[in-house]
Amino acid sequence: MSISETLLKKYAALIVRTGANVQPGQMVQLTVSVEQHAFAALVMEECYKAGAKKVNIDWVYNEQSRLNYLYAEQDVLARILPWEEAKMKQMVEDLPCRIYIVSDDPDAMAGVDPQKMSAVMQSRSTVMKPYRNAIDGKHQWVIAAYPSAGWAKKCFPELDEDQAVDRLWDAVLKTVRVREDADPVEAWKVHTDFIEAKAAWLNGEGFSSLRYRSANGTDFTVELIPGAKWEGASAVNSLNGAHYIPNMPTEEIFTSPVAGKCEGTLVAMKPLVFNSQIIDDFSITFRNGKAVSCRAGKGQELLEQILAMDEGARMLGEVALVPKESPVNQCGFLFYSTLFDENACCHCAIGMGFKEVLPGGDDLTVEQAKQQGINDSIIHVDFMIGADDLDIDGVRPDGSTSPIFRNGTWA
Ligand code: ZN
Repeated sequence: MSISETLLKKYAALIVRTGANVQPGQMVQLTVSVEQHAFAALVMEECYKAGAKKVNIDWVYNEQSRLNYLYAEQDVLARILPWEEAKMKQMVEDLPCRIYIVSDDPDAMAGVDPQKMSAVMQSRSTVMKPYRNAIDGKHQWVIAAYPSAGWAKKCFPELDEDQAVDRLWDAVLKTVRVREDADPVEAWKVHTDFIEAKAAWLNGEGFSSLRYRSANGTDFTVELIPGAKWEGASAVNSLNGAHYIPNMPTEEIFTSPVAGKCEGTLVAMKPLVFNSQIIDDFSITFRNGKAVSCRAGKGQELLEQILAMDEGARMLGEVALVPKESPVNQCGFLFYSTLFDENACCHCAIGMGFKEVLPGGDDLTVEQAKQQGINDSIIHVDFMIGADDLDIDGVRPDGSTSPIFRNGTWA
């Protein structure tokens, strides 16, 4: 593998300083694959240099999960053990910075019964959700990527393993703006300033709904929550005021629309990868705010299953704006990873919305957020609708409109 130690260190520092923005005296929870142990050490050391009190690592080993799914009973896997719950309780108390380094081979779960997997995940999420809700908005976190051989081969099956990994590294570093000859921290400042200026403009306009049109059949309107914020790039820990970047890369400006208030059809522009399975060439049609039908060239059954996960799975939780010039889109291939693929172009997500877009949202309970229009679900699944000719208009309460996107980019 030909990536230099200098670049790796720059990347690790960017993740810790700009991404998680680890503060002196904070605990850090690092989640990383066993294969990436050397990079984990770089990240860990950078956390201590930033003043971390203690860094704990949760090691991920995909093969462990795969074998468990293959051989262990569903109810055994679905059960949350007392120590797992105790660990979550501890996290609610410590509120550590969380750093996730993702490197999953999209086919790591090949051969596993997808229904067993979603049933296990569904019941585990239900138990874990109150803890996740309790730390929401009260800790800094970041998800960043580290190319693994399996992942790289999935993206570039025609290349040999080393070449594939190099190609994926090139792309990953491009999208996170890490280069030999420039300071990535500075590059991120310029990037986040741009995103925040656009978000500020949208917030000033106070659009009450969005209208989407594209020649591919996308014809859709969605109502926005009055006073809900458009957010992008950085987030703030409401307890200590520390800014952090939850996703690296990130290109999107997003908000949560009114759950149950949309109408029309959204046509997907890129495949959707769910539990390492592909749904492709699909569209979803909404009536009275709920997905009433879907059509997929590939993965129809899985898409129907996703929409039936729970009450909120049929409703939207997110609308996001990403111009087609996004570096992820420019890379021109499917990353098989939501972290990247959702930053390629405009998207929507079915399922859980983000209560933090509401004024004082971090302090609201899920129930209170729901009353103000934020969707709730155990899933949050993004799908890309950013056609090259996509037009989006913002509609104000008085009916007047302004163009937001023209031909897939900022108007
Ligand atoms: Zn998004």
